[in-house]
Amino acid sequence: MQRYDVVVVGAGHGGAQVAIALRQAKFEGSILLIGDEPELPYERPPLSKDYLAGDKPFERILIRPERFWQDRDVVMTLGTRVTAVDPVARQVTADDGRVFGYGHLVWATGGSPRRLTCAGHDLSGVHTVRTRADADRMISELPSVTQAVVVGGGYIGLEAAAVLAQFGKRVVVLEAQDRVLARVAGEPLSGFYEAEHRVHGVDVRLGAQVDCILGDSGRAKAVRLADGEEIAADMVIVGIGITPAVAPLLEAGAAGGNGVRVDAECRTNLPDVFAIGDCALHANDFADGAMIRLESVQNANDQASVVAKVIAGQPARYHAVPWFWSNQYDLKLQTIGLSTGFDEAVLRGDPAARSFSIVYLRAGRVVALDCVNAVKDYVQGRKLVETGAKIASAALADVAVPLKELA
Ligand SMILES: Cc1cc2nc3c(=O)[nH]c(=O)nc-3n(C[C@H](O)[C@H](O)[C@H](O)COP(=O)(O)OP(=O)(O)OC[C@H]3O[C@@H](n4cnc5c(N)ncnc54)[C@H](O)[C@@H]3O)c2cc1C
Repeated sequence: MQRYDVVVVGAGHGGAQVAIALRQAKFEGSILLIGDEPELPYERPPLSKDYLAGDKPFERILIRPERFWQDRDVVMTLGTRVTAVDPVARQVTADDGRVFGYGHLVWATGGSPRRLTCAGHDLSGVHTVRTRADADRMISELPSVTQAVVVGGGYIGLEAAAVLAQFGKRVVVLEAQDRVLARVAGEPLSGFYEAEHRVHGVDVRLGAQVDCILGDSGRAKAVRLADGEEIAADMVIVGIGITPAVAPLLEAGAAGGNGVRVDAECRTNLPDVFAIGDCALHANDFADGAMIRLESVQNANDQASVVAKVIAGQPARYHAVPWFWSNQYDLKLQTIGLSTGFDEAVLRGDPAARSFSIVYLRAGRVVALDCVNAVKDYVQGRKLVETGAKIASAALADVAVPLKELA
């Protein structure tokens, strides 16, 4: 059995950043990164954006080149899945039977995409978008696709829809709720994005329930809705969220359910076992202390930096303003803060001009901003969210006054 001072399970955004931040913090112990994908850590957001569109080759989405990891003596064991954790013996077991001992264990496994459970969910031509392999499968099929159905009107589904529409495919988006982006944004933003997609020829269906996927010789050919309508599709993209990949850790006794519970240092209840990123259920200061999981690069990176400091013996606690982005067509959306539970949304600027922001307030305090092609508002609005500024809505709506003057 090999033993490492730090074993990181999951070589994605969070896992890579732990190793980077440990070396930045002058940590000299041994570091092992175990990842079940065959690739070196890479950026996931481009998979539904410029990588899918063919605008960025894989080498450009690597988080760091191979040399970087070698130079910093970070050992990579790729294509290897951890299946069990023994918190008493302080070791993990991989799917090939190898056992690795740890001083500190960092669980950074993200999640697996939720799949449809209806008939036809496993036909070829039905895709989820989580890994490079997923995106490559889609890219290889694209030349023979004329019509695609996207199930789920969240960010990933809408981004994929935008790429396909720009390739000239006929695209239908099926959203079960009464608006797109219902889980993550306020109504004005949902309405704006719905309209944008329609302008680009995407057929957005709200309140749509999938009954099954129909196939021909093992390949998807149509999606049948609950009302019986059949929508032809030679590609189906399912973007309906993820299930955190935490089973081995929960089986080892970690507290949690929909994710692993961690404290402000990202520690689980198991000794010297941390969890970060999409799979970490944490009390978020910007959600009134509610226990949530955040699925964003910001959260994975910032939690990784906290863990690296704690392991290196420096004080740290997770208190980072959430931020997120999404690229669709020529629209760059940047979000700062969490709008959940907002009771007022103030429009700043003119959506028709394709540059505007929505400022979300809760009990009079600014809790979040969605900024569309409005970088200044995004940058200057951070302070308002950080401080929970109390500002009259008329002042927030006045584009003549920069947000920094209201801070
Ligand atoms: C298509 C797409 C677009 C996105 N766009 C954006 C965006 O625009 N902005 C944004 O902020 N965020 C975006 N995200 C979300 C962002 O990529 C995630 O929040 C981020 O990757 C989370 O990092 P992580 O380290 O928690 O998980 P991941 O980056 O998913 O890494 C986890 C790794 O662990 C591996 N793994 C899982 N279980 C095991 C195991 N038992 N043993 C070994 N390895 C294991 C996984 O295969 C994976 O490689 C997007 C995600 C996707 C899929």
